[in-house]
Amino acid sequence: MFNMKIIVYKSFLLFLAIVFLTSFSFQNPENENLKRPKNIILMIGDGMGLAQITAGMTYNKGSLYLKKATHAGFVTTYSASDYITDSAASGTAMATGVKTNNGVIGKDSTGVHLKTILEYAEENGLSTGLVSTSAITHATPASFIAHVDSRIEYEEIASFFLWTDIDVFIGGGRAHFDNREDGINYLDAFRSKGYQVLFNMRDISKVRSGKLAGLVAKEHPISHLEGRSNMLPVSTKTALRILSDNLEGFFLMVEASQIDWGGHGHNTYYIMTEVVDFDNAIKEAFDFADRDGETLVLVTADHETGGMSIVGGNLKKGMVRAKYSTEDHTGIMVPILAYGPGAELFSGILDNTEIFEKMMFLYGFKK
Ligand code: MG
Ligand code: ZN
Repeated sequence: MFNMKIIVYKSFLLFLAIVFLTSFSFQNPENENLKRPKNIILMIGDGMGLAQITAGMTYNKGSLYLKKATHAGFVTTYSASDYITDSAASGTAMATGVKTNNGVIGKDSTGVHLKTILEYAEENGLSTGLVSTSAITHATPASFIAHVDSRIEYEEIASFFLWTDIDVFIGGGRAHFDNREDGINYLDAFRSKGYQVLFNMRDISKVRSGKLAGLVAKEHPISHLEGRSNMLPVSTKTALRILSDNLEGFFLMVEASQIDWGGHGHNTYYIMTEVVDFDNAIKEAFDFADRDGETLVLVTADHETGGMSIVGGNLKKGMVRAKYSTEDHTGIMVPILAYGPGAELFSGILDNTEIFEKMMFLYGFKK
């Protein structure tokens, strides 16, 4: 009897110990130990696949700041309407978490308005920004702020910049704001809302706080080869300085638009110089993240362009021999690289819509 009591008592203790230990192992370690960022910088190389990155790295004699990224994954890019996406559908997928038809901005395939990560950030008291080496009204940046049936409705897209309380935007596309069919000068409206409206990088780079509308070209800024210089890295640095004033945090999207144009044109030199320029902007983001400690940097692409492959090269000379299989985009997965708190969520194979879902989760936003 006495021994039986001890056995029962010991069994009970063992039972408690097992319950205690298993309760630990059943907790999701990803969610329990995850450090969440306050700020997210989403950097999109338009048309930037692995071959484009490799070409840029070779042009740089083997080095890229991008190498500092700690986590990497692959992203599927197909759209609701097409196996091969365009920048509008892919931008909308990353910005809203919903796949739509090629050409559509910020709406689903039935025309329903989709709220973007930039709009969620605004609603939650964060600061927001868009930086691009194309017109700021072009498909990629437009996907984060506008809601139109067709990506070519540039003047309609421009109006969304006024209705959203975006803090900083820097790119081209000035004509869509001040030389419009409807005759309205939107830049006056921005000025009366308190924006600093500036047209050259010398003035833009001096802005330290407040709201900024930076429009450096009537249509698209010129290519890096034609002398765009450090517009993209300086714009990134300027936007980060302004946005970091908000202690609640910020969302910034930075696009290297013209990697895609080099791909369409099978112009390897164009691609390499645009990738290296983008890498200098990535350095600005990584440097900021290092100083800040609460910033996640994501570097990805909306799709690959040109079906580029590298069939020869020379690291010492910084040259590659490339071949292209199409003048259009391709359906091959694109890389995503991550650096900073939350970076571990961006590994393995993801769909482009999951980039939105993971950013929402990390920010802690409710839909
Ligand atoms: Mg683009
Ligand atoms: Zn393209």
